Parts: sequence; structure tokens; C-alpha cells
Amino acid sequence: MNEFLQLYKRLLSAQGQLNWWPATEPFEVAVGAILTQNTSWTGVEAAIANLKAADLMTPAKIADLPIEELARYIRPSGYFNIKAKRLKSLIKFIIGDLDGDVTNLANMPLHHGRKALLAVNGVGPETADSILLYCANLPIFVIDAYTRRLVGRLEIADPTLPYDELRILFESNLPYMPEIFNEFHAQIVIHCKNSCKKQPLCANCPILDMCAYGTRQGVKQ
Ligand code: SF4
Repeated sequence: MNEFLQLYKRLLSAQGQLNWWPATEPFEVAVGAILTQNTSWTGVEAAIANLKAADLMTPAKIADLPIEELARYIRPSGYFNIKAKRLKSLIKFIIGDLDGDVTNLANMPLHHGRKALLAVNGVGPETADSILLYCANLPIFVIDAYTRRLVGRLEIADPTLPYDELRILFESNLPYMPEIFNEFHAQIVIHCKNSCKKQPLCANCPILDMCAYGTRQGVKQ
């Protein structure tokens, strides 16, 4: 079994099935993918709660909202003026190209949908791939800062690889299934939040035995 698959199975067995993304509706996932840029999920939750409390969580309602008002609702997510502009751009794409339904990405060839998303202002590879995977259930692996941190410490890949090279490395070492990409990314995020933090808590790490960094530190469980 290759190291990527082994890592997936070990995290799954240690943390249990997570059935992520932490949002209920595909459109909310897309909104969250923009709001989570450069911020923690706690701020995103508060911003999403504001939009839901005002009954604004639809593409049409956010499209109609003046941008200054939108910025006020999403203030807890940080960089709210930039994110308000980015949300407006994404929603213009969802309404104009996807008939108002982000799940229609699943009806396009994956590379077309990805290219179109990447052309939207403020949508980079991580945001595009989060939307493709978590809104449209398409088989694309999401690379984020947690993924880079973990592969670097485990020494199973060069954490400085360009985004698409690292993404393809994961995809080519796993069964090509969105369910597995979805669950594996969630497992990495939770593991890095709980154990493999900036200052890692290696002593209680469930994958210490397969980690070059932890082993080098002489950490014992
Ligand atoms: S042993 Fe430490 S560095 Fe390695 S994965 Fe676990 S927490 Fe991270």
C-alpha cells in the first residue's frame, strides 16, 4: 500500500468517518469556500450565521444586496470588503453560467468547470477545488496549508511543490473517487487542528510511528 493510502487509512481509523464539509447546502459550501480564505472557520461560521439569520443565503438574494451591506454581514470572516467583491463575482458566475445552481458544475466536464471557476475574480485553485469537490462531488483533491504541513513533516512529498503537482500526486496515489478525496481532506484538516498544529503535539499523535519529524524528535507515545 502506498504512503498516501496508508495515511488515509490510519487517519480514518484514528478519527472515524467525518462526513465533512461543515455546511448544510451546496451554495453555503461555495460561500464558505470564499469566506474561509485567510481566516479560521470560526469567523466564517459567524458570517454565514449572519447571512442565514437575515434569510439571505441564496444566489439571487446576495446578488441583489448592495456590496456595502454584504460586507457588513460577512465582517466576522475578516477581509470583508475584498470577500464581498469575491462573493459577488462568484455569484455572478453561478447565476450566469450555472443557472443559479452551483451543483450544475457536475454537468460540465471537470476541467471546463475548473477553468471557468479559476477565471472568477478571487477564486484560486484551493477555493475552486473545494467548490468542485464539496459542492459538486467531482473527483479533485484539495490542497491547503494543512496538507502541505503534514506531507512535509511525514516526508512523503515535498511541501513546496506547485499546487497542481501536489494535487496530482495525491490523486494518482488514491482510488479516483470523490468520496475518498472528500473524506481524506477532512481527515487532514482535523488531524492538523487537533495534533499536527504549528507547534505539533506529537506525543499523542495517532500516526507518530509513520512520521519522520516526530521520530526525529525522539518523541515517545
Ligand atoms: S508526529 Fe507530530 S509532526 Fe508528525 S504528524 Fe504527528 S503531530 Fe504531526
